[in-house]
Amino acid sequence: MTDAVEGPVRVTGAEAKRVKREALGIADRHERHGRASGPMQPRIRGCDTRQRAYRFRFYPSPEQAQQLEQTFGACRWVYNQGLALRSEAWKSHRVSLGFAETCRALTGWRRAEATSWLQAISSTVLQQALRHLDGAFQRFFRKTAKYPSFKRKRTRQDSATYVRTGFRWLEDPERPGTGLVTLAKQTAPLDVRWSRALPAGVVPVRLSVTRDRAGRYFLSMLVEERITPLPAAFAPGSRAPKAVGLDLGLAALVTLDDGRKLEHPRLLKKYAKQLADLQRQLHRKEKSSKNRGRVRQRIAQLYALISDVRRDMLDQFTTRLVRENHVLVVEKLPISNLMRPAVGKGRRRKAKLNQAIRDAAWGELLRQLRYKCEWYGRTLVVVDRFFPSTRRCSACLVKGPRLDVSVREWTCRECGVVHDRDVNAAVNLRDEGMRLYWLAAAALPPGRTPPSVIKASELKQYAPVA
Ligand SMILES: [Zn+2]
Repeated sequence: MTDAVEGPVRVTGAEAKRVKREALGIADRHERHGRASGPMQPRIRGCDTRQRAYRFRFYPSPEQAQQLEQTFGACRWVYNQGLALRSEAWKSHRVSLGFAETCRALTGWRRAEATSWLQAISSTVLQQALRHLDGAFQRFFRKTAKYPSFKRKRTRQDSATYVRTGFRWLEDPERPGTGLVTLAKQTAPLDVRWSRALPAGVVPVRLSVTRDRAGRYFLSMLVEERITPLPAAFAPGSRAPKAVGLDLGLAALVTLDDGRKLEHPRLLKKYAKQLADLQRQLHRKEKSSKNRGRVRQRIAQLYALISDVRRDMLDQFTTRLVRENHVLVVEKLPISNLMRPAVGKGRRRKAKLNQAIRDAAWGELLRQLRYKCEWYGRTLVVVDRFFPSTRRCSACLVKGPRLDVSVREWTCRECGVVHDRDVNAAVNLRDEGMRLYWLAAAALPPGRTPPSVIKASELKQYAPVA
């Protein structure tokens, strides 16, 4: 697809229309004004409502599972077909097709005899597959992603998106926030496990149904809700915002500046060992054998379990942090070469797995902090990676020598204070974060509150502390 990377030489006017018709193999529409092509306008929302996704597990009946299997397959087929069409139009004709054109082509595919099976699937669901494709292209044009690639069967997860007209929602008057969800082309409502209630009275704007590699089904419901920012949290006995420093570490997952730690749950350690065992088994099994497939499935299930446990644990943790504090300070996501090289047979694989699990946890933690700070009117400060949070003594601010990862405790040569490695780092982060917070606040016009995320790398006034 190297052709597509070249500059946008576009054919325009009547010639482009002719080429498009040819490329699509269907008649072009007559001139239409008003609601024509172009991306769908987002629904106008009240300024203080936010879109929030709620995710629930559900258990389809055999018929529903079969219908979903068909839907996933059709979405994948339409996505790939749309991708082929857009690539081809560009490669052979230097014409870039948009979402609207691929939708028109979809109408053609649904009518064509060879692909009439597409009629069994709701057209809005298939259009959403093309919408996802368009999103992938937009990301490519903005240079934030690679050229879209074809979707293969059973890689990562299957999904289908239902817009407002693609499902029916009946709220249960007895238990508000729960109810009956019926998908297009299905007759019975889904058996949803309401692990929590939606805000009472909301109508979901969009649903997406996914099946992960472990074969579990999830329903993600996007709702618009009003989120009230929390009242400001002040440090005890002062008018300064209460701040907390978070050191993302190797020994404990997170260490707070007051010494509290969020340990790696034992559960994850146990699973990591199981996972390493399974990985080893997988390497011993013959390629494309049935047993290999079985082991692969178990690995996927275990990964899914680990990420669920981790998400729930982090969810509680970040909610508490955001409630208690006004400014939350983290360092920029540490890169993986922090790891000490593992030695010995099998150690390397185990170390890699541990690392993958931990990295994912850090990423998830930052993601949650970022959106919760935005929702609740808090500020997340991201300190630069080059800030010497570990080496600096938080008591006298003198920078000590580099510390090996195995050193858990050290004594400052200048002032003699004994530091816990991670707590000291968290204190340093909190102080540096507050310095940046005040810098950002001072640069704002009076009456404006600091943004929900402040990045050290984006602060022009930022002068590194040597
Ligand atoms: Zn010191």
